[in-house]
Amino acid sequence: MAQISLKNVTKEYHGGILAVDNVNIGIENREFMVIVGPSGCGKSTTLRMIAGLEEMTRGDLWIGAKKVNDVPPKDRDIAMVFQNYALYPHMTVYENMSFGLRLRKYPKSEIDRRVNEASDVLGIKKMLDRRPKQLSGGERQRVALGRAIVRKPEAFLFDEPLSNLDAKLRVLMRAQIHKLRMRLQTTFVYVTHDQTEALTLGDRIVVMKDGKMQQCADPMTIYDKPANKFVASFLGTPPINLMEGMIIKKERKYYFNEGKFQVKLVEEMYKKIAPYEGKKVIFGVRAENIYDRLFVSEAAPDNTVRAVCEVVEPLGSEVYLHLNSGKNIFIARVGAHNRPDVNRDMDIVFDMSKVYFFDCETEKTIV
Ligand code: ADP
Repeated sequence: MAQISLKNVTKEYHGGILAVDNVNIGIENREFMVIVGPSGCGKSTTLRMIAGLEEMTRGDLWIGAKKVNDVPPKDRDIAMVFQNYALYPHMTVYENMSFGLRLRKYPKSEIDRRVNEASDVLGIKKMLDRRPKQLSGGERQRVALGRAIVRKPEAFLFDEPLSNLDAKLRVLMRAQIHKLRMRLQTTFVYVTHDQTEALTLGDRIVVMKDGKMQQCADPMTIYDKPANKFVASFLGTPPINLMEGMIIKKERKYYFNEGKFQVKLVEEMYKKIAPYEGKKVIFGVRAENIYDRLFVSEAAPDNTVRAVCEVVEPLGSEVYLHLNSGKNIFIARVGAHNRPDVNRDMDIVFDMSKVYFFDCETEKTIV
């Protein structure tokens, strides 16, 4: 177990590519920290710098009480699990798992004990004599995890460990990693581009874009109180609906005018939105906060809008409605039995206490 802290960490590759730009992250002892963001945002580079596989251009890195800027990877006491598993094909599962310990000249009995324990935890005890090619993708990933576990490191670093698995297996392995984490009680840093993995696994999440940290918070805060438009749109399925429009004030009340519809803001938002009177803003509303008027009892004229339902997408347990205001297309996520007619006007209700406004220029959250 160890704290890991990155202070003003920057990585510039040859040719002036700024892969990681002045990042500050403090990872607590036993914390599961997820670093998430789109491809190329600098998350693997960040992880590789923690592992010592990549040199930092600037900044300091601490693991526990030790500054490790100049400590080689093998002396950092951390174990890394990669997306391609990186197993040795000519070795058995047992040999793969014990390889690191043998290199470090651990006694045979201790190696045996640790491999047994780890393979027990991971449910791969019956496979110890097989070679990687005789294993499924999920089993190989478990061996890769096992190889990391036997070392009993201060921290585990995961680089997109599930991205080569099919969707069903990913869900199973996600649960397995969760259990593993409960059992090992150590520090994890987990890199993924998958927002579901981030939300389900992380104690806290760092969201990155273009080498910069956008927000670092627990999953609910990231989802409910995104720092900016990017964070709001990166997390959530389907992605948050975003529409440009104008803030107007009438009789001491504030409204958002989209062009085709107008809705009234809740009073709690007035103070923060006031400087935007007469200005353009971006309105954000998640699909689960939009309802069919027929299914809502508390609809009022000033949170109800007219839209054409263009597509009804049944997903089994829920339905996506693709709605067109005449200016914007947006998606509502409604109950499985809510099936409005297609290509007809319908009344739509926004839960105005759960909408967001973003600044058009800075894209920061206004409220
Ligand atoms: P991610 O893991 O988020 O997909 P990376 O950390 O791999 O992103 O890459 C961040 C940026 O740095 C990208 O623009 C990538 O092209 C660039 N990059 C990564 N590795 C190298 C390298 N060895 N040399 C030059 N540029 C690199």
